Amino acid sequence: MAEVLVVVEATQAFGVKKVTLELLTLARRIGSPSAVVLGGPGAAAELAGKLAEYGAEKIYAAESEEIDGHLVAPKATVLANLVREVQPAAVLLASTQEGKEIAGRLAVKLDNGLLTDVVDLDADGTATQVAFAGSTIVKSKVTRGLPLVTLRPNSVTPEPAPATPGTVALEVAATEADKLAKVVERVAEQKGSRPELTEASIVVSGGRGIGNADNFKLVEEIADLLGGAVGASRAAVDSGYYPHQFQVGQTGKTVSPQLYVALGISGAIQHRAGMQTSKTIVAVNKDAEAPIFELADFGVVGDLFKVLPQAAEEIRKR
Ligand code: FAD
Repeated sequence: MAEVLVVVEATQAFGVKKVTLELLTLARRIGSPSAVVLGGPGAAAELAGKLAEYGAEKIYAAESEEIDGHLVAPKATVLANLVREVQPAAVLLASTQEGKEIAGRLAVKLDNGLLTDVVDLDADGTATQVAFAGSTIVKSKVTRGLPLVTLRPNSVTPEPAPATPGTVALEVAATEADKLAKVVERVAEQKGSRPELTEASIVVSGGRGIGNADNFKLVEEIADLLGGAVGASRAAVDSGYYPHQFQVGQTGKTVSPQLYVALGISGAIQHRAGMQTSKTIVAVNKDAEAPIFELADFGVVGDLFKVLPQAAEEIRKR
């Protein structure tokens, strides 16, 4: 069976990201999944257990200080060399900031087509893709080169398929051009009690309607009761209610959880771009004409400050 390269994403706090497990699951539809770990020395050994559990038949380990210390450019170079060598059936990456940047660079290096924000992929390489800021769902196929695809987190249910992969060490030959930008400082991600926003199966987001930073405690309370992550609209972020890393939308993060709860969010197109593939959408807004209700599966027209305490009380009872 032809190899399918899966580019692994992991964080120090959370280990292998759930989206990587989704990619391994998807890869099995097309061929034999090979995980590609691009990181500092020892990275592959740390992640191998989880990758094996989800079906990685082989692990390529590109480990060096160059990879770790120079943003994504050396990663794209290593991947391009690997693709030329093994001629895989497809290359799958996560539709994250890093995944998309690597994929773009890889597409240029290989003179290959690229599909981003894919939510499903058939064995023949036909992708279901979210396009034009999330307003359109299209079926598309790479017609130049191999299927090079980035997958939106939470699009596929990860299924374990235990394997016993061998590890192949890759030579890292970063060019001078790859080293033009380097990492000067790392700020450790805090592993809090909430799930990571893009990986969470429940996201509770607050908008300008929340009113101020202090009131965001109400959003956090609902998120914690449901075991979800907290998100925010850009208006809430720009108003200083919540940090930018939690912004959902075109210029923030893309989420696709099982449940998305929009509190005091009007539903502007740029916000929808980041959340409209959520499986179930619940909105609370005092304006019955708010565009978010066009999208919502369930809506409550009412004042947040009356609705949220009642909702919290009901959830606590269950
Ligand atoms: P508003 O539009 O002001 O809506 C607030 C809502 O709260 C209203 O519907 C109101 O009825 C309701 N409300 C108020 N008080 C209460 C109450 N007490 N109880 C119940 N409901 C109440 N936006 C994003 O979110 N993410 C992005 O990534 C993003 N990127 C952008 C990129 C560009 C290039 C541009 C131009 C804009 C972008 N925006 C983005 C901004 C976007 O256009 C909207 O301005 C923004 O999403 C509005 O946020 P909001 O819904 O919180 O605020």
